[in-house]
Amino acid sequence: MSKHKAPRLKELSKKLCRAKSSAVSVLVLLVLGTTGCNQSSNNQVTSEVPPPAQEAAAPTTPSAPKPKIVTTFLPMYWFTRAVTGDAADIEILIPPGTEVHDYQATPENVKAIATANVLVKNGLGLEGFLDSTVKNAQNANLKKVDTSKGIKPLNEISPVVKAVKGRGHHHHHHHAQGNPHVWLDPVLAKQQVTNIRDGLVAADPANKAVYEANASAYIKQLDNLHNEFQQGLQKTPNCTFVTFHDAYPYLARRYNLKQVAVVEIPEDQLAPSDVQKVVNTVRKYNVKALFNEPGTDNKLLASLSKDLNLTLREIDPLETGDKDPQHYFRAMQNNLQALQSACQ
Ligand SMILES: [Zn+2]
Repeated sequence: MSKHKAPRLKELSKKLCRAKSSAVSVLVLLVLGTTGCNQSSNNQVTSEVPPPAQEAAAPTTPSAPKPKIVTTFLPMYWFTRAVTGDAADIEILIPPGTEVHDYQATPENVKAIATANVLVKNGLGLEGFLDSTVKNAQNANLKKVDTSKGIKPLNEISPVVKAVKGRGHHHHHHHAQGNPHVWLDPVLAKQQVTNIRDGLVAADPANKAVYEANASAYIKQLDNLHNEFQQGLQKTPNCTFVTFHDAYPYLARRYNLKQVAVVEIPEDQLAPSDVQKVVNTVRKYNVKALFNEPGTDNKLLASLSKDLNLTLREIDPLETGDKDPQHYFRAMQNNLQALQSACQ
C-alpha cells in the first residue's frame, strides 16, 4: 500500500465505523484489511477525537471492547479468568506445558504485552523473563498486577537439599525474592485472587460488580478447599515427604507437613548424586513418601522408591494443565488425596 493512500483508507474506515453497521460496511472493512473500528479509533495519532458517545448511540454498533489482560502462567490465567468471567479477553504468555522456571520470552509475548491493558503476574521472582519483555513492549498504559503483593515470602521453611554445584547455578535467581510457589497454598491463593480483583476494578471500574461477585465465588471455593486440607491432614502433623521440585513450602507450612526438596526445580533426569541425596534424606528424616510430578516417568526413581520401601506418588505443582479455572480445585483435590495416602 502506497503511503499517500493510507490516510484516505483510515478516514474511510473511521467513517464506516461511525456509520450504522451493515453487512456491506463490514465487508468493505474486511476488503480494506483494516484492523477494526476500535483499534483504528484508539490508535489514531491525528487530532481526531474518538467518538465513544456516537458509538454508544448507534444501536447496531458493538459494545465497548473488552479489556485485554495478559497473564504469565497457568495459575494466573485461572485466577484472572475466574474473576473476569467473560468480561475480558485473556492471554497466557507461557503456554501450558512449557517450563515456567527459566522461561524465555518470544516476540509474540512482546506483542501481546504491547497491546494489553493489564498484566497479571505471580511475582516473587518466578517470571524472570518479564521485566525486559515489558520494557521491550513499550506500553506506557499497561497496568500491572503483582498477585503476591502483601504475601510474606518464605525462603527456606523446609530443608532443601541443594542442587550440586554447577547444575543449579542458573537457578539462583529463582529464590532470590523468596520461594515463588504461593499459589499452592489455598489461603495465599485467596490473596492472589483478591489482588487480581482489586487490580481489575482499578483498571476497569465499569465491570466492578462483575469482578467482585466472581472473585467472591472463587474465594469461597478456596475457603472450602482450605477446610478440606485442614481436616484431611490434621491427624498427620509433621508428615515428611520428599519432592524433586521445591514447590510446596507454603502448602507444608499451612498444613503442618514437612517438605524435603531434593532439587529446587524439576529435573528431567536425576543424577546419581541426587539418588544418593534421596537415600540420605530418607535415612535422616522419617520420610513417608516420595513425590514425583505428573507427566514425568523416572525409572530410576521408581526402582529407588522400591528399594527404600516407600511409595512413589504424584504431586502437582499446577504449573501445567487444563485452562479451566476449576482445574485448580481438581488438581488440588488430587494433591490432598496423595498427601493423605502418603501421610496416614
Ligand atoms: Zn515451580
